[in-house]
Amino acid sequence: MNPFVRRYHTVRSEIDAAASAAGRRPEDVVLVAVSKTAPASSILALAEMGGVTVGESRVQEAEAKVREMGCDPRVRWHFVGRLQSKKAAKVVRLFQAVHSVDSVNLLEKLESAAEREGRTIRALLEVNLAGEETKGGCRPGDVGRLLEVAARLKHVRVTGFMTIPPYSEAPEDSRPYFRRLREIRDEAARGWRGAEPLAELSMGMSHDFAVAVSEGATLVRVGTAIFGERETPVRGGQGGGARP
Ligand SMILES: *Cc1c(COP(=O)(O)O)cnc(C)c1O
Repeated sequence: MNPFVRRYHTVRSEIDAAASAAGRRPEDVVLVAVSKTAPASSILALAEMGGVTVGESRVQEAEAKVREMGCDPRVRWHFVGRLQSKKAAKVVRLFQAVHSVDSVNLLEKLESAAEREGRTIRALLEVNLAGEETKGGCRPGDVGRLLEVAARLKHVRVTGFMTIPPYSEAPEDSRPYFRRLREIRDEAARGWRGAEPLAELSMGMSHDFAVAVSEGATLVRVGTAIFGERETPVRGGQGGGARP
């Protein structure tokens, strides 16, 4: 079996086990295979299983892969990296969802790009819970303002939240951040007037996805555990392989 496919299945069964242990349904957790720096061929190997959701953190890299693979209906593309507003139109064209929206400006740029393209895009609001300056994400205190704007958009469908906790070797160190994001989601959902439920939580990476699932993640973003260690650190992307 292709090594990526084998590791994908291993991660998937660990997600399923963590969900069951938490009394959740495994099918309520989507595995986003973060394929940054991995070649198009490895995405194709996963697509052969019947369908896959992949995460990319750089627009240019994703664009090159889409060009190489063509429009493959088995692949759902999610943008998980730091997003510059000037790339909004490309993101709308290439991706079905974006996990990293952290400003009113970005929401508005995505909305007008999507309207122009005659498309809709799903969006998650990224929250920077530890106030880390090297990472994207809005401050928890800004969530209300973003939701106010988000609720009246027609082409950007805000469906939840994303976070990246400070890196730690110990997966349990991420738990308070995952829990906090869930509380923010629960609180926001109460007053929410948007088109779609505010239900999603994108949280958990290779080392801490099981903890994230136990805290309610509906999307986990897993790269290394599927594609192996990245050789070249991705500059400018978040969580981009530059590990301490
Ligand atoms: C790279 C990346 C991931 C995957 O990280 P791994 O530790 O390799 O699983 C998840 N989320 C974001 C935003 C990333 O940039």
